[in-house]
Amino acid sequence: MVGAGKEGRKDETAELARRRGFIWQAFEIYGGAAGFYDYGPLGALLKRRVEGKWRDFYRREGFYEIETTTIAPRDIFESSGHLESFTDPTVMCKSCKSVSRVDENVNVDVKCPECGGELEASGELNLMFQTRIGVTKGEGDEQAAKKSEGYLRPETAQGIFINFQRLLKFNRDKLPLGIIQIGKAYRNEISPRQSLIRLREFTLAEVELFVDPAEKNNHPRFEEVKDRKLRIVPSDGEAEEKSVEEAVSRGIIANEYLGYHIARVDEFLESIGLPRAKLHFRQHRQDEMAHYATDCWDAEFLSDRYGWMEIVGVADRGDYDLSAHASSLNVDMRVHTESGKVVPHVIEPSFGIDRIIYALLESAFYEEQVGKEKRKVLQFKSEIAPIQAAVFPLLNRDELKSKAREVFQKLRDASFFVEYDNSGSIGKRYRRQDEIGTPYCITIDYETLEDDTVTVRKRDTMKQVRVPIAEIKEVLV
Ligand code: AMP
Repeated sequence: MVGAGKEGRKDETAELARRRGFIWQAFEIYGGAAGFYDYGPLGALLKRRVEGKWRDFYRREGFYEIETTTIAPRDIFESSGHLESFTDPTVMCKSCKSVSRVDENVNVDVKCPECGGELEASGELNLMFQTRIGVTKGEGDEQAAKKSEGYLRPETAQGIFINFQRLLKFNRDKLPLGIIQIGKAYRNEISPRQSLIRLREFTLAEVELFVDPAEKNNHPRFEEVKDRKLRIVPSDGEAEEKSVEEAVSRGIIANEYLGYHIARVDEFLESIGLPRAKLHFRQHRQDEMAHYATDCWDAEFLSDRYGWMEIVGVADRGDYDLSAHASSLNVDMRVHTESGKVVPHVIEPSFGIDRIIYALLESAFYEEQVGKEKRKVLQFKSEIAPIQAAVFPLLNRDELKSKAREVFQKLRDASFFVEYDNSGSIGKRYRRQDEIGTPYCITIDYETLEDDTVTVRKRDTMKQVRVPIAEIKEVLV
């Protein structure tokens, strides 16, 4: 395998993703807008498959999915602390007046990334998109204006917290209670220059697990994950490999529930095909923790292009959110448990689906020389590949084409995502499928007409095996 150079690789992945219909800039024909991307047919298929695996994964934990609104009135974000604290520090250029978000590379000690001018601190900017709900009555009436003020949600979690009492009832007043939600979140990012990494509209898949604080060190299934080795980077130490059990018992990870869920996140990321060598869990320093968190670990992916980047955040939110809403509304969010009446704590794995898709595209891509040609491959696992198999007639003859169509339709009827292709040479057709990550190509030839067998060619090895039509489905799953 010829690994393309770092630079070559980054451009190739983005170019392939655009050209073959995975992702592209939104509003492209109007010149685009920073921080907005659209998913094309293959990108949408890939994303749906990843989300499907995620749903199945958390359903196996016994969690229920809900769907709440993406717009909410001001009060919700006033109580949750987002109005005051969901901000990024900024710097402004003294000459060109452009505003940038402060990070490791941009601060008052460096020059303006746009024009090289001098930068100065320009305060905190709130990242939420504001909107109006309905028509504001009474022009100039501040109270009325506030009432109609709405925000696009910056995370899906609040929709779960504010429904807590109903959800608890649904769960027959018992803890633990696990709720999941997948949906769009919106953040008016200040410097969204990095394709799917920093979007202004993106998909979050969030888990909110409500637990009795007295039980946080007593996860009933901890046994199942305790020996899993994780690469962890504690906030005050070096990267090390530790079993979940050791990390929890030494107090590096705050409690069993958090440890259990960090391990499950690691397992999920591996199950969709992200290479473990490119993953680690990094603990937040006190000064970077979100306003609601008491301990937080980011699953980070080592990107060729962007370096280590957060793809999942796993936070212990303590009782922050329920207590915040309870005190704003003057209601009781406590639950009867064996240890008395308590406000549940929340463990939250929060997955950035778009960043995961980016990580999958980047890590799956490779090029190799085959004879005189370069073969480009997206090495997706078959469980997430957008197209599960392609069906070809070997030659452009009617008898082969009609048999190939028959096999194709049979697979479609059995709910496989399959493509039919009879254009160009067979070699070209293989290359096309390699490039979009299709794990199997099925070819119908003259032998098929005699004995109802086909060749199945595997993407990774390019080896072909002969399989009876009746058994294709078993090969594909
Ligand atoms: P956070 O609530 O900031 O911990 O974000 C949860 C997850 O959402 C992160 O792990 C990222 O994967 C993802 N995420 C956060 N901000 C963005 C963004 N602007 N664009 C795309 N994904 C994001």
